[in-house]
Amino acid sequence: MAAGCIFCQIIAGETATEFIYQDEQVVVFKDINPKAPVHVLVMPKEHINSLNELGPEHNQLAGTLLTTIVKVAQQLGIKESGYKTIINTGREGGQLIDHLHIHVLGGKKVSGFAI
Ligand code: AMP
Ligand code: ZN
Repeated sequence: MAAGCIFCQIIAGETATEFIYQDEQVVVFKDINPKAPVHVLVMPKEHINSLNELGPEHNQLAGTLLTTIVKVAQQLGIKESGYKTIINTGREGGQLIDHLHIHVLGGKKVSGFAI
């Protein structure tokens, strides 16, 4: 757990955030400021600052993050209609919270690249 990281605090159960899905490695919860009817964040429980800190030692975790997206898309009823996945990295990439997370957006036609 990284001091001052809001996502680590959520993962540690320090807030009232409801988890859509979790297992030993991964957690999913709703984005507080949704940009689509379905907008959830998929992330590792382990604090990893960004995609830039992902190394070969995380290969299994990276795969689990991707398969979790599909599992949650199915659970939320957007697997067949489709969804957009976004990882913001660094300031110019639009990353505001320095705990690696994948945005999953669906429930309508999701256009544009930035979030
Ligand atoms: P990013 O710009 O990729 O770092 O995305 C951070 C996302 O976290 C934004 O879409 C925020 O709306 C979302 N967010 C910030 N605080 C919370 C929170 N407490 N619970 C859920 N989502 C949050
Ligand atoms: Zn964190």
